[in-house]
Amino acid sequence: MPHLTSRRLASVVPATCGLALAAGLLVAPSTAQAEAPSAAAERGRPTAKIPTAVGKGGAISTVDPEASAAGLKVLRHGGNAVDAAVAAAATLGVTEPYSAGIGGGGYFVYYDARTGKVRTIDGRETAPRTMPQDAFIDPATGKPYPFTPDLVTSGVSVGTPGTAATWDRALAKWGTLSLGEALQPAIDVATRGFVVDETFRQQTLDNEVRFRAFKATRKLFLRGGDAPAVGSVFRNPQLARTYTRLGSRGLPYFYRGKLAALIADVVRHPRTTSTTTLPVPPGHLTRKDLRTYSVRDQRATKIHYRGYTVHGMAPSSSGGTTVGEALNILERYPLGTVGTTAALHHYLEASALAFADRGTYVGDPAYVDVPTRDLLSDTFAAERACRIDPTKAMPKPTAAGDVTSYDGVCSTATATAKADADADTENISTTNLTVADKWGNVVEYTLTIEQTGGSGQVVPRHGFLLNNELTDFSTTYVETDPNRIQPGKRPRSSMSPTIVLKHGKPFLALGSPGGSTIITTVLQMIVNRIDLGMDVEQAIAAPRATQRNTASTTAEPEFITAYGPALTALGHKLVPAGDAFTSAAEIGAATAIEFGRGGLLTAVSEPTRRGGGAARVVDKR
Ligand code: GLU
Repeated sequence: MPHLTSRRLASVVPATCGLALAAGLLVAPSTAQAEAPSAAAERGRPTAKIPTAVGKGGAISTVDPEASAAGLKVLRHGGNAVDAAVAAAATLGVTEPYSAGIGGGGYFVYYDARTGKVRTIDGRETAPRTMPQDAFIDPATGKPYPFTPDLVTSGVSVGTPGTAATWDRALAKWGTLSLGEALQPAIDVATRGFVVDETFRQQTLDNEVRFRAFKATRKLFLRGGDAPAVGSVFRNPQLARTYTRLGSRGLPYFYRGKLAALIADVVRHPRTTSTTTLPVPPGHLTRKDLRTYSVRDQRATKIHYRGYTVHGMAPSSSGGTTVGEALNILERYPLGTVGTTAALHHYLEASALAFADRGTYVGDPAYVDVPTRDLLSDTFAAERACRIDPTKAMPKPTAAGDVTSYDGVCSTATATAKADADADTENISTTNLTVADKWGNVVEYTLTIEQTGGSGQVVPRHGFLLNNELTDFSTTYVETDPNRIQPGKRPRSSMSPTIVLKHGKPFLALGSPGGSTIITTVLQMIVNRIDLGMDVEQAIAAPRATQRNTASTTAEPEFITAYGPALTALGHKLVPAGDAFTSAAEIGAATAIEFGRGGLLTAVSEPTRRGGGAARVVDKR
């Protein structure tokens, strides 16, 4: 593959960005600034939300026009998919700071066109080494902390961030740019600012009480006492400076030295305002946790589905095993010919079964034995499929299968494991991006700081939020639970960056945010595309439902209108989507690229969810 040298690319990318950066730093105030809407409108900032782009020579899809433009610029100037993915992710850290950034973690999946292999990086946050198993028990009461507000807005839920290390690792292994070069477009956006949209303002308002609890957060995101106005320009010179230093000094800047000490200190001693009434339990993170953090190079999960090969993220994420198991179950039914109601019924049932197994068996494989091979076995799937009655929905929650004893024969099917009774507390945050380059490399990358707004704590003077990822551990400690708290462990994730190959070549790359609904969004999109005759634009736009082994199935209103009566007649109980933190009745905010004949790329993002996304191609058809 004709990799450009980073020197050649550097001579192009920073030529524009660097000037803007220098200008921005000269006038950079110490905190964020909002510029009047009218002035903002005069500048040619990328604000257009283009849900679909078709063409050649490379493509990118993210939720945000600035991030897609940053990635596109890198692709146009000869960078590869990995370079563009890091540039776009860093820009999302600026424009989507409540969903992702260097205060969090994520999972990076890469298809290498030269080798034909799919490789992954597990950049998940880790529990502090001194985190006790009763960390989520309030010492004052002896009872578990309430999930909201205590755990979500806390130091105790902050894990060691993995995102900066993920970017560094991905670039070193597969990229052509240095970290500094890849961060440059994001530095540019952080310096000159981006135009605030409805989603950004609303997410700020949704978090207002939490953000007011921390001095640094209030100063950055509630400047002047209000959330930034729609149409104003939001700058983050603190983050520009942090990225600049990360770029020039490398990972030691983040994981050793003063910044690491500051992160550990604010986690252990949250810097709250005197007026807040939020409890904000302190955490356990130390400088040693940061110093010893490392990403994991992982083997991707792999299953075969109707002639396609589906590669996903292995544990510590439950994405690859759960999407894969559900597809293995579904492959036993001719979904394309049974009619929409029957197809959706099977989709919901297979998902419930796979979630039952997820809850019982999946955790961080460095700490618990995860039977990944069994969960992805066709024989196991055949036995699990025995539980599906085509004429009526099974009672839920349903029990997990027995991975120690299965033969694929229905008559001997057993269900000895207990149902997963733990409440689903994963939130609908996170962001996802898909990139392809002209050499055929593909990146699918999901990154997060967990809840929208993470832990609510901005690292003072550094312009980024810390995660609350450890809330993904089970709240109460049970010795047999694979997702129980253990020092140093990665909490189980649902992130499901997925690359689907056909005859060894990319066919579809996709992923989504949305907590545990990520799994069902990816699963449903694959079923929509491969089984239900939708093209990729229809597959992403179609109304969604998510069955995660709970008594009722959460669904978007359009789904309930279209399919509710028929599915209710089969015994499904559909309830409208929406969570405790936002009023959005949406599930997921996916991105995808489909690979057609002759190098044709169809990049898609959400037409409406989360305000719509931004798909771009290098050469428009
Ligand atoms: N913490 C979630 C996970 O790792 C992602 C957060 C979200 O999407 O809301 O699966």
